[in-house]
Amino acid sequence: MSKAIVSSLYDSDVFKMACRQFDQAADAISLPEEIRDRTKYPRRCLAVALPIKRDDGTVTVFEGYRVQHNLSTGPAKGGIRFHQDVTIGEVAALSMWMSWKCSLAGLPYGGAKGGVIVDPRQLSESELERLSRRYMQEIAPFIGPHVDVPAPDVGTNEKIMGWMMDTYSNHLGRNEPACVTGKPISLGGSQGRREATGAGVAYLVKRYLEDLNIPVAGATVAIQGFGNVGGETALALAGYGAKIIAISDYTTGIHNARGIDVKKALAFLQSQKVLRDFDGGEAITNEQLLGLDCTVLVPAALERVITAEIAAGLRCRVLAEAANGPTTFSADKILEQRGDIEVIPDVLCNAGGVIVSYFEWLQNLQNFYWDRDEVLQKLFVILDRAKSSVEYQKRKFKFSRRLAALTLGIQRVAEAKQSRGLFP
Ligand code: GLU
Repeated sequence: MSKAIVSSLYDSDVFKMACRQFDQAADAISLPEEIRDRTKYPRRCLAVALPIKRDDGTVTVFEGYRVQHNLSTGPAKGGIRFHQDVTIGEVAALSMWMSWKCSLAGLPYGGAKGGVIVDPRQLSESELERLSRRYMQEIAPFIGPHVDVPAPDVGTNEKIMGWMMDTYSNHLGRNEPACVTGKPISLGGSQGRREATGAGVAYLVKRYLEDLNIPVAGATVAIQGFGNVGGETALALAGYGAKIIAISDYTTGIHNARGIDVKKALAFLQSQKVLRDFDGGEAITNEQLLGLDCTVLVPAALERVITAEIAAGLRCRVLAEAANGPTTFSADKILEQRGDIEVIPDVLCNAGGVIVSYFEWLQNLQNFYWDRDEVLQKLFVILDRAKSSVEYQKRKFKFSRRLAALTLGIQRVAEAKQSRGLFP
């Protein structure tokens, strides 16, 4: 029997959670022992020190990572997170989920993730630019359009991807837009990429509500996290006629049973940077938001917010995981026992982002650009296909929807590794 000799490098609650999910899925499909460990553990990682000249003339050294989980199914793909709580274990867990996500959606990619330990809100715009460029300069030898293609994640955005594309292109001495996705349109970004994750979440929510015979028009929605993903999900669901009864960021939650004016909230956020003092409803805590009575609950912030205790008190009909890893392993068990909540698991629910990243990369490689309708239409086709395969797997093996999605994602990666054989 094979046994991994594993270091403690990635040791953390979130990495353990990703490993437990993997072990459960591998057992469920009787994945051969000899392929397990090399499918499970990240392939390689890079840690970088990032010295940045501050506006006051002093120098601060930040730490960053890039973890490539799997390169057997194509170039690795995944976002870069700028957050003060980033750890290499978290980045490794997120890279595993990227592998299953890309594989489930049928994208010709492996999985990766990057992160820098920094609160980007504490940096001026020019400091942020220097940090973004320095990070790209350090990881440049480790990535590339046919090796590993970064994208935005929590705390990063189009502007940062633009600086990174410019840094990589300068390093090469020619334009290389396919080196990152989520860029500004003017640098080869795709139509529809900014809204892709939220549009995908909203589309899947609509499709699952249809399956449940619940009209999306008038459905009540609570969304935790009002960054790019939460904001775009709110806009798209409001566009389908749903009533957004609660939103939140790290400063506050806002609850309004009559419905929140999403555009007003986004405009407030644009000018004030945080939701605190937004007068579109009464203030609640993030924890109160998660327990609200609603049709759809959308965690769209960080991982592990739905603990066992919170899972027991949820009052939603559908849990749409727009964030990566929002539900702990023990919370998941409780949701399974309860059986009254339809979970749209993260690797399916938020796949819209990486699917449109794939379209962006294709457009860059071909120098041939699509319009927004074409992008969204193709996005929905892939999401429908992934949803159908998950539902088929769920029915066939009587799995939970998460187990169905994970087993499909893991199986395809393991099969590719098996077909390629062990080198040398
Ligand atoms: N960061 C996003 C995710 O977690 C997008 C990744 C990508 O577009 O490569 O799926």
